[in-house]
Amino acid sequence: MRSRVLFLDHVGALGGAELALIDVARAYRDTSTFLLFADGPFRTRLERQGIQVEVIEGGTALHSVRRETRWPGPRVGWDVLSLAARIAPLARRHDFLHANSQKAFIVACVAGAVARRPVIWDLNDLLIDQHFSRLNITLDVLLARHCAVRVMVNSEASARALIAQGGPAHKVRVVYNGIDAAPFDAVTDAEIAAARDEFGIGSRPAIAVFGRLAEWKGQRTALQALRHLPDVDLLLVGDALFGEDAYAKSLRSDAVGLGVADRVRFAGFRADIPCLMRAVDVILHTSIAPEPFGRVIVEGMLARRPVVATRGGGVDEIIDSGHDGMLIPAGDPDLLAGAVDRLLRDPVEADRMGRAGRETAERKFTVNAMVETMSRNIEELAGA
Ligand code: UDP
Repeated sequence: MRSRVLFLDHVGALGGAELALIDVARAYRDTSTFLLFADGPFRTRLERQGIQVEVIEGGTALHSVRRETRWPGPRVGWDVLSLAARIAPLARRHDFLHANSQKAFIVACVAGAVARRPVIWDLNDLLIDQHFSRLNITLDVLLARHCAVRVMVNSEASARALIAQGGPAHKVRVVYNGIDAAPFDAVTDAEIAAARDEFGIGSRPAIAVFGRLAEWKGQRTALQALRHLPDVDLLLVGDALFGEDAYAKSLRSDAVGLGVADRVRFAGFRADIPCLMRAVDVILHTSIAPEPFGRVIVEGMLARRPVVATRGGGVDEIIDSGHDGMLIPAGDPDLLAGAVDRLLRDPVEADRMGRAGRETAERKFTVNAMVETMSRNIEELAGA
């Protein structure tokens, strides 16, 4: 019998961290509950897997804190306390709290203390100054040291960053995201043709960036690179999920300013990622700050497409450059265009790289390994 885990996440949207936890929560669905601090498509996805979900709305001030917020103010403290007070009775009916986001972790630490239940932190971020305010990092490290019984991190890079900030090395375990290959293999030629039709790509070469629209995801670099790739269409798949609407808007005007707007398609948030990945020739990852992990890279590999990605963070642990993908420095549109151009001109090499990527993804990033590592850690703690 598995432990009873109260999974917590503060968002209702589908970011990478949320998608990553669905398979683990499914393995625990007979004993556990998923608690969200906001409603949204994440709830629907979890429920579709037979996972019991509860949503507690509220915490407006807490929700409005952004990664870069320097001083959150007293209302945020109040939100944390009141959410924790509401969660504590539910926490008592579980063996562990498992927090999947930083905000959920802070609330879980208070609720766990009240309910006397241990807290596992699932850290999906790189705790570095490029991503988070000093206050944010200090608080996270303090709580990781004093409140968490274990910190599960999504890459060696995320582990190193936490430890470098003073985090507790002995509590840290790495668990890579695992992604199911089946949906990528189930895509039919007719679906690929329909997707290319939908975006008016026809038989022209197409490249794509998959990921939410956020400044640090670097979609702008892809637009700049497109100037050097005159016959190529670019698909930007994803939407602003966490308040980056101004950036999303600016991308559209940038495309016009760069003279590439007629070759750029803004696809918005899509649920058919495997199909869209197989519908394009090269997949780009363009983050200009180090990426904690980068699910989209593994997904591109599963789609057997060559992936050109920017170095840094967890990405370096996924791609062996030149073999199963290509790594380039961040924010360099000339180098990006050069790499894409070489792959488009050499379909044999592009195909070889796509196959090598698939082999790596199937070997290193399986759902089985992810669920097995996560549950081994939880059950080990239960037995301790
Ligand atoms: N994704 C999606 N629909 C979109 C864009 C992205 O489902 O329109 C998914 C994508 O397939 C991936 C996840 O969102 O699984 C993004 O995860 P990643 O680790 O790349 O970035 P994060 O959002 O965690 O920063």
